[in-house]
Amino acid sequence: MSHAVLPPGSTIGVLGSGQLGRMLGLAARRLGYRLHTYSPDTDSPTGQIADAEVTGSYDDLDALRSFADGVDVVTFEFENVPSASVGAIAERTLVRPAGSVLHTTQHRGREKGFLSGAGIPVAPYALVATGHDLDAAVARLGCPAILKTASFGYDGKGQARIDRPEDAHAAWDAIGRQPAVLEAFVDFERELSVVAARGADGRFAHYGAIENAHARHILDLSMAPARVPPEVEREAIAVARAALEALDVVGVLCVEMFLRRDGRVLVNELAPRTHNSGHLTIEAAETSQFEQQLRAVCGLPLGSTAFVRPAAMANLLGDLWQDGEPRWAEALRRPGVHLHLYGKRDAKPGRKMGHLTALADTPEAARAMVRDARAALVESHVRA
Ligand code: AMP
Repeated sequence: MSHAVLPPGSTIGVLGSGQLGRMLGLAARRLGYRLHTYSPDTDSPTGQIADAEVTGSYDDLDALRSFADGVDVVTFEFENVPSASVGAIAERTLVRPAGSVLHTTQHRGREKGFLSGAGIPVAPYALVATGHDLDAAVARLGCPAILKTASFGYDGKGQARIDRPEDAHAAWDAIGRQPAVLEAFVDFERELSVVAARGADGRFAHYGAIENAHARHILDLSMAPARVPPEVEREAIAVARAALEALDVVGVLCVEMFLRRDGRVLVNELAPRTHNSGHLTIEAAETSQFEQQLRAVCGLPLGSTAFVRPAAMANLLGDLWQDGEPRWAEALRRPGVHLHLYGKRDAKPGRKMGHLTALADTPEAARAMVRDARAALVESHVRA
């Protein structure tokens, strides 16, 4: 069963219905696959382009089983699906990556324990379940440190920085006194990610190191290839490969990393799916991360990850709408700049609404182009 090949015409089931599912769906459509999405939402970014949009909660096992009965394989664009739900689906159809991958990666403590056990470097950390644990963890790791909820954190949600030991309990209050992980603050030189894939036959493919910049804990800009020495890139890729192999992933997984000032990399977190930092592969690589996910979960050969050109990607957050509709013509009139919008109606601050990708001769030139295009979307409002 693990080597089943699902040919074009098969139906892919996606848990989650955001932009990652939408872009997977667009890749699936091009290759002649059908796609069904399952999430609590309606008129979702994925649902708008899917063959079927099923609305239900992630713990409605009967609804999930009947969703599973209508598809040939289930994959994810959202990882916080309860283990019991993935288990119920796995009784009925193929699930890629396996539920065990989600189980490990949806809890920061489990994930870090797994990585350390596999010999993969992570920032010093401690598990926090009680106020006493927190005091002991702050004493051991020192300040500054970052307290993160063990589960359901993303885009900096559920995180609080602790600059002085006396602030620790306020930080814990701020994240709702939930089970957490305290991490030593990493004085990183750069943030990197490696988006990689593993096929049903165990083959591995990667897009090299991508360089990321965050603003307010949300990814702001990515560029590829990352501006790092070859030995750093080799280490980043080796770490990613070790993570995918240790987890026995079939599908795409992104490894987010910190590059320390001494040239070593530490893993920050794993996302067992396509990733925002890989969006630039749509235009910049021979096979996008979304087509790669499709190929992996369908048991097809992985595609070439060669870059056609250096690229940069800038996220478009809801904040851009605060003074009215962005001036799309400014992005559309620029050669080499590509606009993606996710079909979301409510442009809330911090919400990912779309992105821009630019291709150029160097990553720096591509970055200048996406920044310039993004600034032009709102320039008239700023001047007004
Ligand atoms: P996360 O949700 O864990 O991916 O964190 C979001 C962002 O917060 C990261 O990409 C970093 O920019 C920053 N961050 C998280 N953890 C740390 C840390 N231990 N040291 C320094 N910066 C961090």
